[in-house]
Amino acid sequence: MKDIAKKSNTQYLLDKYKLQASKKFGQNFLIDLNTIKRIVATTHIDKETCVIEIGPGIGALSEQLAYHAGYVRCYEIDTRLKDLLKESLGEFTNIEVVFQDFLTVDLKKIVEELKQTYSKVCIIANLPYYITSDILEHIICSQASLSSIHAMVQKEVALKLTDTQYHSPLTFMIESIGTISLDMHVSRNVFSPAPRVDSAIIAIHIHKEYNILLTHLLKQAFTQKRKTIYNNLKVIFGTNTKYILEQCQIKENKRPEELKIEDYLKLTKYL
Ligand code: SAM
Repeated sequence: MKDIAKKSNTQYLLDKYKLQASKKFGQNFLIDLNTIKRIVATTHIDKETCVIEIGPGIGALSEQLAYHAGYVRCYEIDTRLKDLLKESLGEFTNIEVVFQDFLTVDLKKIVEELKQTYSKVCIIANLPYYITSDILEHIICSQASLSSIHAMVQKEVALKLTDTQYHSPLTFMIESIGTISLDMHVSRNVFSPAPRVDSAIIAIHIHKEYNILLTHLLKQAFTQKRKTIYNNLKVIFGTNTKYILEQCQIKENKRPEELKIEDYLKLTKYL
């Protein structure tokens, strides 16, 4: 099918397969072709690029990705969409849809395989909002050799993730692998059903491999945000905590969000 995102095409497909958007899976379908084209333009993909798309839904974004990318591998959790996607994307020879929960995908292995054929592999997704952080963490912690991640997230989340004054385990994880930018604002009115909030596209450009030791360290450091780094890290470093903080030149009364990514990277050496 051409121009899947058109409101009439979206309605035709959902009616034909007697489907309604599922709240459980965070389904808000894009119904504005122009918005999708603008999103794809921000990603700068080309025929050398393989795109991994999380959650194709009825295929509106996947279709436009397939026109620009060499290959599109989609992961969709909702098996109700099988027949519908066969019809909407069936004619594309460079799209494959795998019905699997993305959080269970061995991303490192998959990306290694795809990189045998494509010089760049990136992730592009209109993310289900209920698991935005889980998905971003899953991608980063997989240590997959990706060039970039482009994700539609709630506007508030995009603003927090790109605010250099705001720190959370996820912002530190992102900072440790590369740079993040807010590339485009997206109105709630271009989705069906329309969510209660506006959205934005964030892009993470990856330059460094993720240090897996950061995951545990950051989770522990932020267990109680209002407590000092000393109190939070005591659980992992025990009686050595004071000594280790001194060695890393970190003041023990700092709060976890006051540290820099370099501090956390130094601390991983003592794990
Ligand atoms: N890409 C489509 C679009 O832009 O119109 C749909 C986006 S919709 C916000 C999110 C999609 O992610 C839905 O198709 C949903 O079923 C799928 N999804 C939700 N959780 C998922 C998971 N754990 N793994 C894979 N797909 C998931």
